Amino acid sequence: MATAAATATAAALATGRFDAARARADFPILAREVNGRPLVYLDSAASAQRPRAVIAAVDHYETHLHANVHRGVHTLSQAATEAFEGARERVRRFLNARSTKEIIFTRGTTEAINLVAQSYARPHLAPGDEILVTWLEHHANIVPWQMVCAATGATLRVAPIDERGELRFDEFQALLSPRTKLVATAHVSNALGTVLPVKQIVAAAHARGIPVLLDGAQAVAHGGADVQALDCDFYAFSGHKLYGPTGIGMLYGREALLREMPPWQGGGDMILSVTFEGSTWNDLPWKFEAGTPNMSGAVGLAAAIDYLEGLGPQAVHAHEQRLLAKATAAALEIPGLRIIGTASDKAAVLSFTIEGIHPHDLGTILDHEGVAIRTGHHCAMPVMDFFKVAATARASFACYNVDGDVDRLIAALHAAREVFA
Ligand code: PMP
Repeated sequence: MATAAATATAAALATGRFDAARARADFPILAREVNGRPLVYLDSAASAQRPRAVIAAVDHYETHLHANVHRGVHTLSQAATEAFEGARERVRRFLNARSTKEIIFTRGTTEAINLVAQSYARPHLAPGDEILVTWLEHHANIVPWQMVCAATGATLRVAPIDERGELRFDEFQALLSPRTKLVATAHVSNALGTVLPVKQIVAAAHARGIPVLLDGAQAVAHGGADVQALDCDFYAFSGHKLYGPTGIGMLYGREALLREMPPWQGGGDMILSVTFEGSTWNDLPWKFEAGTPNMSGAVGLAAAIDYLEGLGPQAVHAHEQRLLAKATAAALEIPGLRIIGTASDKAAVLSFTIEGIHPHDLGTILDHEGVAIRTGHHCAMPVMDFFKVAATARASFACYNVDGDVDRLIAALHAAREVFA
């Protein structure tokens, strides 16, 4: 598969344009039909599809390497450990973290944020302290903070956005105070596609000595993340948004902070010694990985990173931006269509409503045409409230989407309007 990726990259270099049709052929599920029509998959912001390389890497692990990690002296246990820890090193390189001690495998972004909430925030919070988030957050970056605030007497503060779906940076800065113990913000909004000014956010918070967690679930597949360049303290993402498997994700944490944090779950693998009088903790990163981890998921995630880097993340990003621009221009021609989220810097997400058609009806009509979009609140109810809509329809683009997918989307939207006219 590295070969297919290399071919796609070579083709992109030769033509000056990323060859999405070639990338598309790497994803077997995209060859299927839905409701008698070739599938157009525009729901990658919810979960991206997996290329053959990822499916093959997981299959290879399951077929040849599987045993429990870390504790065994036998050949398979050592092979599984090597594969699992090799995947950790792959993630470290992808994020440009300083050390694999800073890479903790989790079930996904949600678990990573909960880990920080319980293990970092909870011991640092007292009544009157504050956690600062933005109005753009996914529920995964709201609810864990509400839970920890309820347990400690701290308060959740929210930095507002404007009509375009951009953070009001001045107001964000004004909310930073000696009471702020942590800033937690999306890198990219899943509901609107807004790319947040995360470097400025980190700089403003650090100027006051406040650590920053970035929710990178929507960012890593669309331009990537360099945690040293961002200078963030925590970074979270999920494998399944990055062409990898579900049930695997990771938390990056600055080593000095992770060292001071207590474990949040107890069990096997996270200890050095256990007696009934007490236990001592394993080194980083295993201190935060209680129980048997998701080894095949980690291997699949590493393969997904190889795949994306083989395609060229910048070429993929440019391709997705071109599709977004094309879809946006065509969507604006549809009478009654309102785009929700018009930030100047957007990932390839087109959120919209059409007057007189409920987004769920729209989603169903499009599905009859074989076009998969997402409809609903996108686990970002406060964003829906801000724009005074109950739900939106959302088309999101990935490396495997082609111009024809945009054409099919737009044609299906026109057809839907006729049904309701
Ligand atoms: N944050 C954002 C911005 C997301 O888009 C998502 C997934 N929709 C999450 C967090 C949660 O990710 P997961 O469900 O994989 O834990």
